[in-house]
Amino acid sequence: MTFSCKNFDFNNENCMKLNTDCIPGRPGCVLEGKVRFSEDIEKKLKELEEAKLQRRKRRRRT
Ligand code: SF4
Repeated sequence: MTFSCKNFDFNNENCMKLNTDCIPGRPGCVLEGKVRFSEDIEKKLKELEEAKLQRRKRRRRT
């Protein structure tokens, strides 16, 4: 099966809808709730979200 998303920016390899990495099915994605992740991808998503929160916290301190 192949999938092409209108929100994917091929030049930057980024999601234009979420302005972050494309991980099909992640929160906010058009596929949210329609796909099921492997444990590895669930773990990677949590790491990305934690990294994003840490960046926001650092910006607020400065
Ligand atoms: S994260 Fe979802 S909405 Fe964004 S480009 Fe990837 S598939 Fe499309």
